[in-house]
Amino acid sequence: MDSTLTLAAPAARAGTPRLRVAVIGGSLTGPVAALLLLRAGFDVTVYEATPASASRGGGLIGLEHAALDILDGLGIPQREFIAYDSETILQVAVRDRRPAQTVRRTYPGRNTTWPLLHRALAARVPAAVLRTGMRVTGLAAHTGRPVLRFADGSSEPADLVVFADGRSSIGRRLLDPDRALRYAGYVAHRGIAVHAPRPGLRDFVRMEPCPGAQFNVAPVPGGCDWTFYLGCTPAAYERHFGAPPTRRVFALPQHISPAARSHVDAQADALLPPDHAAVVRATTARMAVAVLDIDPPTRMVWPVGDGHAVLLGDALAPVRPHTARGANNGIEQAAGLAVALTQHRKYGADLPAALHGWQRRHLPAAVAAVRRGPVIGDRLGLGAR
Ligand SMILES: Cc1cc2nc3c(=O)[nH]c(=O)nc-3n(C[C@H](O)[C@H](O)[C@H](O)COP(=O)(O)OP(=O)(O)OC[C@H]3O[C@@H](n4cnc5c(N)ncnc54)[C@H](O)[C@@H]3O)c2cc1C
Repeated sequence: MDSTLTLAAPAARAGTPRLRVAVIGGSLTGPVAALLLLRAGFDVTVYEATPASASRGGGLIGLEHAALDILDGLGIPQREFIAYDSETILQVAVRDRRPAQTVRRTYPGRNTTWPLLHRALAARVPAAVLRTGMRVTGLAAHTGRPVLRFADGSSEPADLVVFADGRSSIGRRLLDPDRALRYAGYVAHRGIAVHAPRPGLRDFVRMEPCPGAQFNVAPVPGGCDWTFYLGCTPAAYERHFGAPPTRRVFALPQHISPAARSHVDAQADALLPPDHAAVVRATTARMAVAVLDIDPPTRMVWPVGDGHAVLLGDALAPVRPHTARGANNGIEQAAGLAVALTQHRKYGADLPAALHGWQRRHLPAAVAAVRRGPVIGDRLGLGAR
């Protein structure tokens, strides 16, 4: 654990009780929230459903300056989670499998990967704070206090429950049950290849053989990470990945059927320049992510007895990956939450008002990102509005 996290804790104002915070989810948003709240002097426990031994994969994630600065403030040096410091995006229009026109853009941020960022965060969460293998199944008020229920039959009280439990969030299902996930009609096929399409790849390359496809590739430690967006009916998704898209929201390597693999290879051969198609074909371990939509959120805070529960990150609003806002939103919301709670703890600010102020500041960005996804999808000819 980074000792600055405890040393920096501000003194609580006399008479302000020390809130007990339960963070649900130990991926990205949850650990950022936990580290910020620990530093602010709260009593924090992180509950993560998967066992400590479970390997979880994820791909390339672009982080903007606001999120990078929050990680900096946690004392996590960029070199720990940014392997390639390029800010360049090359956007390539592809016609007849050949690059037709390239536009160079500068991204106001840097690319990390889920494993690099997760490792940097997890290394700083004290072992006593993280409880793995703890799947939340329910939340109810008991004698005025929020009480979490877990799949193993146990229960734990908290004053504030922070749901950072991702796209299939139990928190969202309990607190905001009308906002169900909807399949957008296409899939982000993903893989990590040992060889890049060209030696010396440093930038993020976005190939657009539109309409109906997009292919992104960027360097990661040990090779290159690619994402190939392709249309897919719900029936084909179930055939290829073994379950409907709103149930199997991530298809892990063991869920990728030979038919899914052949389909992606054939589309790469039909649409991409040969060197990029060769990278796809050569990739052994693959994953797939169903692209999903949801109604924009109208709130982030709920009273539970005398306590509260909040949703943040993908639990609040899973957004289409092209928006590159999912992790950014979660990290920015976590930092804003720590600010609001610190005003309560340090200066006795009214807690419901502090939480509603946080909601007012962060809801518009989440709503905008949810709305932007289908607009980008439309431009690419992917999915239906
Ligand atoms: C192809 C692709 C590209 C992307 N690119 C970008 C990008 O460039 N920029 C960007 O900002 N974002 C990007 N994203 C989005 C980003 O990956 C997600 O927004 C981010 O990972 C969400 O983090 P999270 O911690 O909120 O949720 P998750 O990573 O989904 O984590 C949720 C955690 O909660 C746990 N959990 C779930 N249910 C329970 C339960 N009942 N009890 C306890 N624990 C539970 C899970 O096991 C998991 O560990 C991309 C996504 C994809 C698919």
